[in-house]
Amino acid sequence: MTSTGAHASAETAGLESPVSAVAGVGSARARLLAKRGILTVGDLLLDAPRRHEDRRQFSKIRDLQEGQKTTVSGKVIAMGNKTFARTGRSVFEVILDDGSAHLHCRWWNLPQMERFFDVGDELVVHGKVRSLRPKAMDHPETETLSSVTREADAETLAVGAVGAAGTADPAEEPSLHVGRWVPLYSLTDGLTQRARRWIAWNALKAFGERIPEADPDLLVEASRSGWTASADGQQEIPLLAQEWPARAQAIRDLHFPASDTDAERARQRLALDEFIALQFEIQRRRLNLESKATALPCQGNNSLMRPFLARLGFRPTQAQNRVLREIREDMGGTVPMRRLLQGDVGSGKTLVAAAAALMALESGYSAVVMAPTEILAQQLHANFRRWLEPLQIPVHLWTASVKSRSEPGLNLGLSDVGLTVGTHALIESGFLPERLGLVIIDEQHRFGVAQRERLLRKGRYPHLLVMTATPIPRTLGLTLYGDLDISVLDEKPPGRGKIRTHLRTPDALPKVWAFLRREIERGHQAYIVYPRILDNGEEDAKSVETEYPRISKALEPQVVGKLHGRMPPEEKERVLSEFRAGRIQALVATSVIEVGIDVPQATLMLIENAQQFGLAQLHQLRGRIGRGATESHCILVSGKASASSTASAGPSAAVPLDPRLKAFSETDDGFELAELDFKLRGVGELTGLSQSGSDHLRFGSLIEDRPLVEFARQLVRRHLRKPPAKHSATDHGNIGC
Ligand code: ADP
Ligand code: MG
Repeated sequence: MTSTGAHASAETAGLESPVSAVAGVGSARARLLAKRGILTVGDLLLDAPRRHEDRRQFSKIRDLQEGQKTTVSGKVIAMGNKTFARTGRSVFEVILDDGSAHLHCRWWNLPQMERFFDVGDELVVHGKVRSLRPKAMDHPETETLSSVTREADAETLAVGAVGAAGTADPAEEPSLHVGRWVPLYSLTDGLTQRARRWIAWNALKAFGERIPEADPDLLVEASRSGWTASADGQQEIPLLAQEWPARAQAIRDLHFPASDTDAERARQRLALDEFIALQFEIQRRRLNLESKATALPCQGNNSLMRPFLARLGFRPTQAQNRVLREIREDMGGTVPMRRLLQGDVGSGKTLVAAAAALMALESGYSAVVMAPTEILAQQLHANFRRWLEPLQIPVHLWTASVKSRSEPGLNLGLSDVGLTVGTHALIESGFLPERLGLVIIDEQHRFGVAQRERLLRKGRYPHLLVMTATPIPRTLGLTLYGDLDISVLDEKPPGRGKIRTHLRTPDALPKVWAFLRREIERGHQAYIVYPRILDNGEEDAKSVETEYPRISKALEPQVVGKLHGRMPPEEKERVLSEFRAGRIQALVATSVIEVGIDVPQATLMLIENAQQFGLAQLHQLRGRIGRGATESHCILVSGKASASSTASAGPSAAVPLDPRLKAFSETDDGFELAELDFKLRGVGELTGLSQSGSDHLRFGSLIEDRPLVEFARQLVRRHLRKPPAKHSATDHGNIGC
């Protein structure tokens, strides 16, 4: 994502030089750094410390409080290993004296720690105070300031060794290791904090003045014109810094800040540069489209829409109607549609897709729908055939195992304008639709931007509708899908039964099964979900293949089916249609059923080992039930059985429940759950945007830094929408150093 301009300036600044250009880095250290992906001086400068420690003053051991997390410094006065005969556990202990009191630093079952210390060494230790009698820390982080027996490291001498009392000789260079905010890095074995710190210091000394400013410098541009960003044009964006440090200063502060505030301000500044680069990428794609492409006229004339709606059997919701109006406006406009349809599970996105396809078909253009799995493609295909074939529209299927299957009676070949439903096999070169007018991508989070673009290239700027059930907070949506307009289906079709969610531990399973059997006997159908296809011997992961025979037996004479990703496609299709037809009462499955499957009579869902699923995934799974008019039940089983109740006695001991699952059982608002999931698991995983650059962020977080994200979006928007300045019209912020 580094622009050519930024590269060129980085080269002249020497930031592309190998790390060995830095004093203190020989071939051994270069190898250790390379293990963490640090090859150039630029990499070195951008490798942020994982935290800073305030070593301007150390806590006095005498004053330590229980539970306090702090840093102390002192001399080792005794040390040794001790083994407890009864338990076989061992503890290695170092006793530290800082003149005020003694601190016991303990490492359990790590006798080899002994070789890192000597009596007489000066240490800095950081950790949590475990007890006061004696004063003790368990497994603290340590750093040796000076050692009595071992040679002082070469670098210590070079920057001025720290005196015995932990203070630097004022005549020498100020200490890097105490008396200041000190960086602590992620290390590889063999590289000490002290060495790494010294290398960073040397790199800054030699190259710090040569770090180029971002180009174009949108921050300077903005402040010169007195412009301040505001979220939605209303509220001020709360940012730590309105006065941003220059990029070079930010990189210095990233390593050796004067305060923790400076460190955070530096991080924000560097994060902003990343967001700006990301925004350039996204917004340029959109601008390109607007300037280059002429839209195909696909507004339709209702000749198919009218009979379609008349035969449907229900009326579109208000939300569906609103979204369809937005789509019609786009498809009749001058710029090709680029629209994201966000709608929670069960909100009726398929109907919107069908209606959008009709607009293209009415106008004489083909439409394709890409689904993330073969099962879903088949289901959509069946659905669209049921809806569209009575209108004489050919509906094809195109997957890895089935290429084009048109109904014999219709006698229409693939070369005709029609609708094709498929999987990513649609991207292959063999698939060439006639007059492609509309591309629909279902469950966008399963695909990357690159796949989307490849399908679009099958036509000449076809319209694009992507659909997702992952509700994305607005700012995030604008960032991730900044080149798309957003429509929201915020209303569920009427007549849906309530879904009750229950949390249980495995010891409740007999009761759960009795309940399921009763419900199935009353004519309801069930999904039973396991995280794995096969057992791998772990106790926490039951599997479809091992549970299936057991469940078949337990539910006799009811018919039980199984479904997972490794079954042949025809077999999957057969099982699903039997289930849909009510000839199979219970379906034992993996999360293959997670998206899109629509069987309204299924009202029961049991998910075992529920802790193994992400929240968004559980929400999708739960979205399979509650589609009919009767009440549905989703039962999550997780945690360990009675073993835990002996450990933590008490009446509620059998419920050591995951707080995520608890939150999940309390809401079925996909929006709320998505926020939680984003926080817990990050963005890339959910949105499948690995190609878009959002996972290259090292300083910024799309979740935590939303005001910055919005600020960057506005900066770039402002920059791109005004007449290009002479100097750098095609350049953008560099996130390579
Ligand atoms: P999703 O948004 O999860 O893809 P679907 O498109 O599968 O949801 O719709 C879920 C169910 O709701 C389907 O059975 C569909 O036929 C039904 N449905 C969609 N729109 C309406 C409506 N306006 N009124 C009644 N039922 C609807
Ligand atoms: Mg769907």
